Amino acid sequence: MSPEQTKATSPRPALSPKRREQNRREFIRTSILGIGVLGATLAGLLPLAGQANARLRPPGAIKDRLQEQEFLAACIKCGQCVQVCPVEAIRLADLTDGVGVGTPFIQARDQACDFSCDGLQCVLACPTGALTHDINYPSQARMGLARLARPESCLAVRGQGFRGQARGADFSGLLRYEAVNRWLPIPVADHPYDLELCDLCLRQCPIEIRLAQCAAGTPPSGDANQCPPRSAIRLGAQAGGGALPLVLDGCVGCGVCEMICPVDPAAIVIDIDRVADAAQVG
Ligand code: SF4
Ligand code: SF4
Repeated sequence: MSPEQTKATSPRPALSPKRREQNRREFIRTSILGIGVLGATLAGLLPLAGQANARLRPPGAIKDRLQEQEFLAACIKCGQCVQVCPVEAIRLADLTDGVGVGTPFIQARDQACDFSCDGLQCVLACPTGALTHDINYPSQARMGLARLARPESCLAVRGQGFRGQARGADFSGLLRYEAVNRWLPIPVADHPYDLELCDLCLRQCPIEIRLAQCAAGTPPSGDANQCPPRSAIRLGAQAGGGALPLVLDGCVGCGVCEMICPVDPAAIVIDIDRVADAAQVG
């Protein structure tokens, strides 16, 4: 067990105002939807149980989409993973998700998993192994795979820089900036950028940040096991100028690149049906 993993035993923190407000809205939304869905179902307008909507699951989720039923069966909808995440990345599915109500998912564009906790606290908190206990470090996760879905809007491809708040002043997403505070993620809006060539997907990639720390001889928490074996993303040179983000086989699908991408809609997104080891990465 790594030093970070021992932190799993610390007292559960109180819900933040952001989480309380999110829970309140989701409760109201779910209640209203529940009444509507029940009525529609009774009227024969909806199938009783549709296919589960594909969702980005937390690290360690039983991943094979063909085995989604295995995950649904293993997850007891206890919400323990939700409680421990320092960036509040994990939500619980509501009635609009069809089957799988109450199971955890991550909406990466709103709040990605940035591995602020280092020790996969959600995995440690999961009582059933629906988030497998076989992984110990962020680089072992396989949540999905990043993909440059809109190269035409990527600022790096266009040879453009970026200045300002990556997602605007109203964006409430959090990231850990180690130069600011090792243990306290801050709003992305509080950390403006001034870049000659946009490289935010690479710059904020948790795997690339760890690799840089390890190359400098300072792995996270001094634990060499935190060093990823492979790169997740790099910028490739383009003949006409600019640079092309290239996803590599160290990508874990955490979604930080999708969250931080300053163009709207994001130029880079997470494919949840692919993982690095099983995919043709590029
Ligand atoms: S691994 Fe990611 S989703 Fe899980 S608790 Fe840590 S930061 Fe949150
Ligand atoms: S490339 Fe994107 S999804 Fe892949 S590890 Fe880096 S930030 Fe996460």
